[in-house]
Parts: sequence; structure tokens; C-alpha cells
Amino acid sequence: MITWTAFSVLKKLRDRVVAVKGSETLSSDLKQLALQQGFSAVGIAPAVTPVGYHHLLEWLDRGYHADMQWMEQRKEAREHPRSMLPGTCSLIIAAMNYHEGTQPVAGPRVSRYAWGTSDYHTLLKTRLAPVAEALRQRLPSAKTRIVVDSAPLLERDFGRMAGLGWYGKNTMLINRRFGSWFFLGTILTDAQLHFDAPEEQQYCGTCTRCLDACPTQAFPEPGVLDAGRCISYLTIEQRRTAIPHELRSGIGEWIFGCDVCQDVCPWNRFAPTQAPEEFHPREALHPVDGRALLRMTAEEFSGLFSATPLARTGYAAMRRNVALALGNLRDVSAEPELLQALSDESAIVRSAAAWALCQLATAAGFVAVRQQLIREQDASVQGDMSASLLAAGEMVPEYRSDVALTPPGVCDDGNCGAATSAAHVPDA
Ligand code: SF4
Ligand code: SF4
Repeated sequence: MITWTAFSVLKKLRDRVVAVKGSETLSSDLKQLALQQGFSAVGIAPAVTPVGYHHLLEWLDRGYHADMQWMEQRKEAREHPRSMLPGTCSLIIAAMNYHEGTQPVAGPRVSRYAWGTSDYHTLLKTRLAPVAEALRQRLPSAKTRIVVDSAPLLERDFGRMAGLGWYGKNTMLINRRFGSWFFLGTILTDAQLHFDAPEEQQYCGTCTRCLDACPTQAFPEPGVLDAGRCISYLTIEQRRTAIPHELRSGIGEWIFGCDVCQDVCPWNRFAPTQAPEEFHPREALHPVDGRALLRMTAEEFSGLFSATPLARTGYAAMRRNVALALGNLRDVSAEPELLQALSDESAIVRSAAAWALCQLATAAGFVAVRQQLIREQDASVQGDMSASLLAAGEMVPEYRSDVALTPPGVCDDGNCGAATSAAHVPDA
């Protein structure tokens, strides 16, 4: 005869099986719905402190976050997803491909993820909303929050835990079928869902292509990025200051982000190209007209890019990047725009234009840089322009930052091109 205690235990077991089955069915239905919304892969991970959190702390200690102080300030929030939604116990992680097959064209380049007509934050949130809604319909008491690259969440770690890929030596999450050209979007929920098996393998093997190809040697070791040397950081996050001279050549033609360590990855060679229409390249970026970007007003920049990831860089930093790229491309046709940019209101644009003109190495360019150096009142720009001239093997005129100079004529020293002003008279 069955006792009451045994009956109670059996009932609990049965309830648990029913709950787990229910959670499995619900999880599977939610994943199906996400796939119907255009995501390439979906997985579910438990809300825990990810292994990557400890790597993050070490990374911050080593100063590899450069001047992204917000990473240091918000590090505690990254320890557990409940900091974004109290009670979170499951994360639905969805990957959306953004590679639609178009190949880059010669000239200034923008990272592939920013080519489209929409901001991916908005698009992914919109596509995840019906999935979160379906979850709340099935479990009316469930809470949900959608996060796309905008909250302190270690998304790649949870992507690995959800079985979507491994953490490559280039620090990207790589999926064996889809490579690494995808965005991640997450639904946090306090509902108990069925978790997928994590990806435990690392399929890079002995390959070191990404490490070898990085133009600025931004990987101090495999899987560790020194953001201060990475072109993506320099062109997008370092917005207010000049890019260090020693990294300017390495930046090459990139004006927003960099795809090199993904372009060379063998796992991307056969990855499908099935991005939604919104990620197909917009006309203004394919090809990029660097000269037009340099001429652009702040209003025109905002009108063209305000709803895209490029807005993050901002007007001045974008034109700084363009000037450097035109210099690296040795695009002599851009000399008129670079000469004009020498007197731009932004210090970082003036410095970059001077550097670019020194790369073009035309006589008129050197003369103009020397003349601007004499007029220049910003000490940091003076130092930057001097370094550019010296690196090009050119003479640097004397200048005084504390003297307001009259518009310059041309020095009668034919090799100099500096202004006939107090700058040539040390004690004037
Ligand atoms: S994005 Fe470019 S600069 Fe940054 S690590 Fe990759 S290859 Fe290097
Ligand atoms: S290029 Fe090679 S080492 Fe780098 S992420 Fe891809 S497979 Fe790994």
C-alpha cells in the first residue's frame, strides 16, 4: 500500500516532470518564433555569473579598456543579469546575421555591421518584442526585458552558454554554421525556461590568422584585446582626442570600426549571407565618398546618419577619421578638402588634416601645414602638426602659442612656407 509520504513525493516528481516538459515546449516554441522573426540561431542560458566576468575584471586591471571609464564604473552590474531585471533566471539569446554578401569597395571603409539603413539596436529589439510578448502570454506573471548591446551584460558569454558558439582568439563569438557576422539580442526573464547545452569546444585550433592580420597589433595574447590599440575603439569610442601618431598608419582606410580579424577568419569563409533587407548597404556608404564627408556640415551629417550606428562617432571624430583615411590612401584628389579642414573649428580635425597632407607630401600641402601651425593657438594641435611635419622629414617653423598672429604671408625663405610673422622672431 502506498503511504501518504510516498504519494506526496510522487506527486511532486510528477509536477516537476510536467513543469520541465512545459518549460521545454515553451522554450522550443519561443525559439521557433525567434527564428521566424529572422534570427539565424537562438539558445537559452541560465542566469549565473559568467566565467567571462573574472576575465573582464582582469582585463580592466590591465588597463585594456583604454579610457572607457564607463566599463570600470559599471563592472559590478556585469556580474549577474539580475542587475538588469531582478529575479532573472533565464536568458534567451538570439543571433541575427548581418552579412548580406556585398563585398567592400576601394576607398574609406566602414565596418560591415554599420552598412545598413537601420540601427541594429532598434531592429533587433523590434524583432524580439513578439517573442517576449508570446512568453508573457503563456506565463502572464513573467517579467521580461530586452537588451541589445546597451546594458551591462556579457552577451557573448551568455551566447556561448546558450550553445551559440565559442569565444574565438579574435574575441568574437563564432558559430560553426554562421561564422561571426551576427548581432546578439537578449530577452531576460524571471521565467524558468529550458536551457541549451553550452558550447564547450574551441574550434580555432592552431590558427592565428586574426592575430597575425590585425593592423595595429591589438591582441597582446589570443583572446585578449587591448582596446586602446584596436581600430574599432580608436575610430568609434575615442571621440574627443587625436588618435596617437604611431597608430595612424595602421588604421589604414577604416573610418568606422574594422573587420580585418573577421574577414580573415576561416569560419566566415563559407558563412551564409542572409541578412535582412535593413542591413543591406546604404547608398551613402557604398562606396564612401571621403571628400563629401569632409565637406559635410553638422546638419547634413546628422540628417544622413542620425538613425545609424555612425551617429555614435559624431561629426568631428568622423571627419577626423576620414582625414586620416584619405592620408593613408594617399588620395591627392582630396587635397582641397584637406586644406580646407586645416582651419576646421575642431582641433582633432585640424590635426588629422595636417597629418593627412603630410602623407600626400605635396609642396602646397607642406606649405599650408606650416602656415596653419604658425596661426594655430591650440598647444595640442601645434604639437601634433609639428610631429606630422617632422615625421615627413619637413622643417617645423617656430611658432608661439601665446601670440595672436596676423594672417600670414609667405616667408621669403623658399623652403619654409611659414608665415612672415612673430613666429620667425623668437623674442618678438
Ligand atoms: S577589429 Fe581590427 S584593429 Fe581591432 S582587433 Fe580586430 S583586426 Fe585588430
Ligand atoms: S582567425 Fe583563426 S584563430 Fe582567429 S578566430 Fe578565426 S579560427 Fe580562431
